[in-house]
Amino acid sequence: MDYQAILEEIAEEVQPFFGKGRVADYIPALAGVAPGKFGMAVHTVQGETFHWGDAAEPFSIQSISKLFTLTMAMRFIDDKIWERVGKEPSGNPFNSLVQLEYEQGIPRNPLINAGAMVITDYVISHTSDTRAAILSFVQYLAGSDGAAYDEQVARSEKETGHRNAALAHFLKSYGRLDNPVDTVLDVYFHQCSLTLSCQGLARAFLFLANQGVFPQSKARIITPRQTKRINAVMLTCGMYDAVGDFAFWVGLPGKSGVGGGIVAVDPGELCLAVWSPELNASGNSLVGAKALELFTTKTGRSIF
Ligand code: GLN
Repeated sequence: MDYQAILEEIAEEVQPFFGKGRVADYIPALAGVAPGKFGMAVHTVQGETFHWGDAAEPFSIQSISKLFTLTMAMRFIDDKIWERVGKEPSGNPFNSLVQLEYEQGIPRNPLINAGAMVITDYVISHTSDTRAAILSFVQYLAGSDGAAYDEQVARSEKETGHRNAALAHFLKSYGRLDNPVDTVLDVYFHQCSLTLSCQGLARAFLFLANQGVFPQSKARIITPRQTKRINAVMLTCGMYDAVGDFAFWVGLPGKSGVGGGIVAVDPGELCLAVWSPELNASGNSLVGAKALELFTTKTGRSIF
């Protein structure tokens, strides 16, 4: 399949959708990102790579980082993670407080903020220098594409993340965190501040399209069963309260972040990453979701 030609067609066809969303500004350090940025990268399990636009430019991956920590936690304790976090779509915004109280501090899934904090808590309990451990895991998967923490974004989130702090205290009050709230928040804000490009993301998550094996080195990251679990959770929870829409229009497991990135996995075939900072009302990249919809429509690739 000529993915390069398809990416070029998509870039043309998404033009009318620019200017219709809004760059996330609740994290002040993200508000200054140029809204017209747009990149796409496709990495296939066969080793081919395709990219378009700003695909090599690192951006704030935000909630996409939840996939990295989920993978790490599964490597450490496997299915034990489900003791403190559910696996159902939330149907609510990613930072909902009301749902967490209603459900006695058991977050609906690991891809909303509260669930990701529980996962981060597990990772902290199994690493000595957690920030360094997360960074080196991401760098290993993303290769030469240079993942890094953006200290300015991490600080900005820390200064303004009152809602996330409330979620963490709520979890602690229900006994769902083993580590101090400040420690969990510090790691959580740092993982959200990680920067990667579309190319780095498409490479990093290729193992999810390849039964848990990293195609470049043939190293096993997780088991096929764990891979199935993560892809299932992505499909049902990766786009927050717009997950049904995404399954309907795109038809692939995907994970978004408020930095405007989305990664999508076509099991057995490829990993695709897009970036466009303007978001829709659910906090997902508006142009990014449109680009993915066009990709699966044009290629006929979807899990359905
Ligand atoms: N750092 C963001 C937050 O906690 C991540 C949210 C997101 O990307 N959806 O609010």
